[in-house]
Amino acid sequence: MSIDFTLPPEVEQVRLRVREFMDTEVRPAEEKLYANASGGEPERRDVVGLIIAMREKAKEWKVWLPHMPVEWGGLGLGITAMAFVSAEAARTNFGSFVLNAQAPDEGNQHTLLHHGTPDQQERYLRPLVEGRVRSCFAMTEPEVAGSDPTGIRTMAEHNDGAGEWVINGHKWFISGARGAGFSILIAKTDPDANPPQASNTAFIVDLPSDGWEVVRDIETMAGHGNHCEIRITDLRVPDANVLGGRGNGHLLGQARLGPARLAHCMRWIGQIEHALELLIARAEERKLHGEALAEKQAIQWMMADSAMELYTAKLMVLHAAYKIEHGLPFRQEVSFAKHHVANTLWRVVDRAIQVHGALGYSTDTPLERMMRHARSARLVDGADEVHQALIARNLRASWADTGSLRSATGDLDL
Ligand SMILES: Cc1cc2nc3c(=O)[nH]c(=O)nc-3n(C[C@H](O)[C@H](O)[C@H](O)COP(=O)(O)OP(=O)(O)OC[C@H]3O[C@@H](n4cnc5c(N)ncnc54)[C@H](O)[C@@H]3O)c2cc1C
Repeated sequence: MSIDFTLPPEVEQVRLRVREFMDTEVRPAEEKLYANASGGEPERRDVVGLIIAMREKAKEWKVWLPHMPVEWGGLGLGITAMAFVSAEAARTNFGSFVLNAQAPDEGNQHTLLHHGTPDQQERYLRPLVEGRVRSCFAMTEPEVAGSDPTGIRTMAEHNDGAGEWVINGHKWFISGARGAGFSILIAKTDPDANPPQASNTAFIVDLPSDGWEVVRDIETMAGHGNHCEIRITDLRVPDANVLGGRGNGHLLGQARLGPARLAHCMRWIGQIEHALELLIARAEERKLHGEALAEKQAIQWMMADSAMELYTAKLMVLHAAYKIEHGLPFRQEVSFAKHHVANTLWRVVDRAIQVHGALGYSTDTPLERMMRHARSARLVDGADEVHQALIARNLRASWADTGSLRSATGDLDL
C-alpha cells in the first residue's frame, strides 16, 4: 500500500517554520495593528506598512515565496505541499500577503511561469516574485454574467499597421487593481470563433496606462477591499503582450483557475480551523447551569459537525492537489473542494458566532470580520451553483459513457 499521509521532512520543516513565523511575528503585529485601529478597521497604509515590514522578515525566516521554483527565488513547493503551508499562513489575516502567495498574484505568477514568453517572464514575473510590484486579473464585467466567460464584451481589435491591439470595455470586482503594476486582462478578439470558448485572448497590460481608468474601489460588505471597477477606453497593448496565444484566453483562465481555486480552499481551511478553535475555547470557558457550555449536547453537535466538515475539506483539498501534481484530470475534484470548503467556512464561522452569543455579534472577536469575508467565498472563482452544475454534468457523462460513476466521484478504487 502506498497511501501515505505523512509529510516529507523538508515540507514538514517549512510548515513548522511558517507556523512559528505566523505565531511569533505576524499575529502579534496584526493584533497591535487592530488594537490601535479606530473603528475596528486599520487604515490601508498601515496594513501595507505591516505587510512590507513582515515581508523582510519572511525572507529572513526563509518562508518567502513558498510556491515558486527555486530558480525564481522560491522554496519550490508543489501544490500538495502548499496545502499545508497556505493553511498555516491563513491562520492570520495577512499571512499569505506576507509570503507573497496571495490571490490574485499567486495565480498570475503561475500563469506567467507556465504560459509567458521568456521576455514576458523577465518583464512581469521577475518583479512580481521579487515583491516589487503587485498585479491583478481582469475578467468579470458588470453587464454580462461572470459565470459565462463566453459572454465577455470587452473587445480587442488588432491594429495591423502598429502591431498593437486597441481595447475597449468595462470590468469590475478586479481585486488588487489600485496600485497594481500590471493586469492580465481577458478580452474578446474573435467573436465568431467556434467553439465560442476560443473567442477570448489574454493580454498583459502595463499599469498605470492611458485608457485604463480605475472608476472606484467598490464598497462591499467587507468594506473597501481594492476590488475595483475599471473603464477601458482605446487602451493600446503591443502584440508582444498577448499571453498564451490568440484565442487561448478561456483555456488559460481554466488552467489558472483550477490551482488558484484550490489555493483559496487551502487558505480557507486555515480560517475554518481558527474559527473552530474560537468556538471550542469559548464553549469550554463559558459557564451556565453549573457546567461549561461545551457540556451541552446541542453545542457538541456543532463541534462534531464542524470537525467532520473540516476533515472532509482537508481530504478533498489534498486529493485535488495530488491529482493536479500528478497530471491527472482534476476539475471535478477541484469543484468538489471549492464548493465544500467555501460552504464549510461559512457554516463554521456562523456556528462559532452562535456559540459566542452577543459577543459573537460584536466586533470584539475576529468572527464578524471573518463572516463578512467568508460570504464572498461562495461567489468568487465560480459560484456554488456553477460547481454543482459542473459536478452533475460530469456525473451524468460518466454514467452515460461507462455505466459507472467512478470517474466523477474521485476516480478512487473504493
Ligand atoms: C470579493 C470578490 C473578488 C473578486 N475578484 C475578481 C477578480 O480579481 N477578477 C475578476 O475577473 N473577477 C473577480 N470577481 C468576480 C467573480 O469572479 C464573479 O462575481 C463570479 O464569477 C460570478 O459572476 P457574476 O458576479 O457576474 O454573477 P453571475 O454570473 O451573474 O451569477 C449570479 C448567480 O447566478 C447563479 N448561477 C450562475 N451560474 C449558474 C448556473 N449554471 N446554474 C444555476 N445558477 C447559476 C449563482 O447563484 C450566481 O451567484 C470577484 C468577486 C468578488 C465578490
